[in-house]
Amino acid sequence: MASEEELRRRWKERVEALVRERIIKSEVVKEAFLKYPRYLFVQKRYQKYAHVDEPLPIPGGQTISAPHMVAIMLELAELRPGMNVLEVGTGSGWNAALIAELVKTDVYTIERIPELVEFARKNLERAGAKHVHVIPGDGTKGFPPEAPYDRIIVTAGAPRVPEPLVEQLNPGGKLLIPVGSYHLWQDLYVVEKTENGEILKKRWGGVAFVPLIGEHGWKE
Ligand code: SAM
Repeated sequence: MASEEELRRRWKERVEALVRERIIKSEVVKEAFLKYPRYLFVQKRYQKYAHVDEPLPIPGGQTISAPHMVAIMLELAELRPGMNVLEVGTGSGWNAALIAELVKTDVYTIERIPELVEFARKNLERAGAKHVHVIPGDGTKGFPPEAPYDRIIVTAGAPRVPEPLVEQLNPGGKLLIPVGSYHLWQDLYVVEKTENGEILKKRWGGVAFVPLIGEHGWKE
């Protein structure tokens, strides 16, 4: 088993590689990655692989995303302190911890698999991440009690953009969401609600996520 020191050293190397590759572009994202290493959000047996730039298994047959994918989405989201953010697809809780570090305020994250709600809560506590509220439920319906949001970040692949998520965006707000096929590829979209309520959709490029399952997503 790799020591904590070894895990941290390998993680730091991964972060430095992402900076060299210009995937991590901002100092704040780099600092957040160093503060919350991915090995704190996987089961013990996967910790030695946490620095590898690939998704890893988490309970419930789901995955924790690859470091480059998480960095790409966080840079695209342009998170700033004070923003109200909803994440759909808590999984391990890692991305939510990073988001909270960037916005420095409460973050809401929804997960449909109860086992993962518990897994994420434990990981977040162990990592010392504050301000993250893990909510059990179907995130395709958004989370109306805390809406509207400046950013909504969906970390599972949808068949189409769920209408409730667009409705729950603030003017000037952005929704990041992979849209495409169930098993294979999706396109990552940045959906912006302009100040006058116009909806603009920009395609970033190809990604591969597990399916977004729910009322406004894929059927179970
Ligand atoms: N963001 C996660 C992390 O940092 O570990 C990785 C997310 S994983 C790729 C996608 C997650 O979305 C899975 O945990 C899955 O159960 C969840 N999911 C799928 N459909 C959902 C829905 N309708 N509402 C909430 N979570 C959903």
